Amino acid sequence: MAQVRFSSGERIPLEMHKVRIVQKLSLPPIEDRARHIAEAGNNTFLLRNADVFMDMLTDSGVNAMSDRQQAAMLTADDSYAGSATYTRLFDKLLDVFGMPYYLPTHQGRAAEHLLARTLVTEGSVVPMNYHFTTTKAHITLCGGRVEELYTDEGLQVTSEHPFKGNMDIGKLRALIDEVGAANIPFVRLETGTNLIGGQPHSLANLREIRAVCDEHGLLLVMDGSLLSDNLWFIKEREDSEKDKSIAQIARDIADLCDVFYFSARKITCARGGGILVRDEELYKQMRGLVPLYEGFLTYGGMSVREMEAMTIGLDELLDEDNICQGPQFIEHMVTELADRGVPVITPAGGLGCHVDARRFLDHVPQEQYPAGALAAAIYLCSGVRGMERGTMSEQREQDGTEPLAEMELVRLAMPRRVFTLSQVSYAVDRIAWLYTKRHLIGGLRWVEEPEVLRFFYGRLEPLDDWQERLVAEFRKDFGDSL
Ligand SMILES: *Cc1c(COP(=O)(O)O)cnc(C)c1O
Repeated sequence: MAQVRFSSGERIPLEMHKVRIVQKLSLPPIEDRARHIAEAGNNTFLLRNADVFMDMLTDSGVNAMSDRQQAAMLTADDSYAGSATYTRLFDKLLDVFGMPYYLPTHQGRAAEHLLARTLVTEGSVVPMNYHFTTTKAHITLCGGRVEELYTDEGLQVTSEHPFKGNMDIGKLRALIDEVGAANIPFVRLETGTNLIGGQPHSLANLREIRAVCDEHGLLLVMDGSLLSDNLWFIKEREDSEKDKSIAQIARDIADLCDVFYFSARKITCARGGGILVRDEELYKQMRGLVPLYEGFLTYGGMSVREMEAMTIGLDELLDEDNICQGPQFIEHMVTELADRGVPVITPAGGLGCHVDARRFLDHVPQEQYPAGALAAAIYLCSGVRGMERGTMSEQREQDGTEPLAEMELVRLAMPRRVFTLSQVSYAVDRIAWLYTKRHLIGGLRWVEEPEVLRFFYGRLEPLDDWQERLVAEFRKDFGDSL
């Protein structure tokens, strides 16, 4: 589908669906929001969703299902073993990705758990374009370490580069020379690179990685959790691929990989996941772990209803009218914020709009968690819940030292088919207002800091009374508005 052109020349996303079920939202007044964020330990993960106006925390498991998906859920076949639902899902996966073996898991990180347990040992080195939180945690828990081989453009906040998620091939070769292929259980490419702003890789880059893996006999693993946006960007931005169908691009990607694992919570708007495997031996090695940690081989911890929705979701993954929506909404939000001077990651990527907290709060040192402080401030002034993706999301080294993140981002995820354009405009308005008051925002410190994945449920407090000052300023400018 070509984007619908408006006579004004503006690039405005147009929903190719209509809304037929709605869910009421509430927007608590700012004084209540101040209480809620304090009670949540300034951690947006700990807010109650009932106190949130727009939940832009993640696109994991919160995308809107279609009528076809909901209808398919009624046809689910409840059986512990050998359900017809599994067969339908497996056949569809085979049809789309062409990989002969499938290990079902309850979500994406469970796939990472099984892969790490099977392949990673003490001293393993896993090269990747960039890490993801749960991926890194599983690899380090098994005694391995992660090497990030992003390109120079990858971490440039503002750029015109279409594929900032690419892996640097020179760095990959150098790493293999340095540590030896025998210590590399697999090379991992993450499509739609999550933590650097949902930035895509090109198909050409994947082909180059494949060639290097072939030279050294290395396994190539794709984290396909964010495939849908990356598919769209390959078609939009990679000249050699623009005449291909989305289905063809998806197949070309899978054909280059040995293993393809995914979170169905993202790519299919249903809750599940799994690992697709080409090699029978590797499949057999991992198979025993599925009944142990997930559930029997024909459901892997998923509900059969969600599996039916996944099967339809895979059809929708290949529908351009559908998958262009996320990136177009995100591009719109990024452009609107950038026009108002708010520092955001460019070019717009997938997954969501990423605000650069380092530049937004250039007076807050990284040790005081500027991205965490900004996420709390955004909730406070708008009721919009984003996610810290910066130093708070890192984990401490074994000796207790705290690595500072390369980027300090607040991610405002764009769940698919959920928000209207006027809701996006509201979020833009409040964040742009906050930017004019940025000097009021201060830092945070830990009150409770868990050892593993601390960002999920750790608690923090403001270093001074900056939140009270922000509330007062809001009242001054907005009167009795919510
Ligand atoms: C979300 C995500 C995962 C984990 O998937 P869940 O279903 O949330 O467990 C893994 N990798 C990437 C790149 C992701 O974005």
